[in-house]
Amino acid sequence: MKCEIIRDLLPSYIEELTSEESNRAIEEHLKTCPACRKYLEEMQTSVDAPEIKTANAKEINPFKKLKKRTWKAIGATVLVCALLFGGAAYYYGHEWTPSSGDVTVKCEKVGEVVTLSFFAKDEKLIMESYLDYSLDDGSEQVNLQMHRQNPLKKPTHKGAYFGYTFLDDDTIYNTDGNKRKLTDEDVVTIKYKDKDVKIKIKDLADGKL
Ligand SMILES: [Zn+2]
Repeated sequence: MKCEIIRDLLPSYIEELTSEESNRAIEEHLKTCPACRKYLEEMQTSVDAPEIKTANAKEINPFKKLKKRTWKAIGATVLVCALLFGGAAYYYGHEWTPSSGDVTVKCEKVGEVVTLSFFAKDEKLIMESYLDYSLDDGSEQVNLQMHRQNPLKKPTHKGAYFGYTFLDDDTIYNTDGNKRKLTDEDVVTIKYKDKDVKIKIKDLADGKL
């Protein structure tokens, strides 16, 4: 066979499109014709080259996809965490003023100290109190706040407490250590959501509400 015919057939031969009969003829010729062997070699390298590129591209593409997917997953995880954390922070950090019906109030006298304590009736809730001395008439106001018990943060206390140290039935020690003579005007106001409860401090002297 003529080299020209062989070379015409070589592209098909490389792609394995030629018949067995043609293959035999081509291979016979190649055995005896170094020029056509070289031609075939060159063809194979030039055909292989894009194949290598494709192979590389295929290798890179899934990697890129994986990378993209990984980033998406990381992004989603971060977002979910942020939402969970934010949600939890809000859920457990959120405080509200309780209604009087949601609160158990206890009064206890130990020695000179009378302590008022406030507990949420719902055991999953924690009570906090903020004592407000800033009222114009010098009276005190307790602002009760409650929040949910964070399961990851064991509370040091579940109730809110405040108290007075009584020198006698109508004298207390102020927080600054000075004595304070009590009159009927000396009241402490407990702020609930539904109402304010005023308690005469004098009435607490016996440790009863
Ligand atoms: Zn040849």
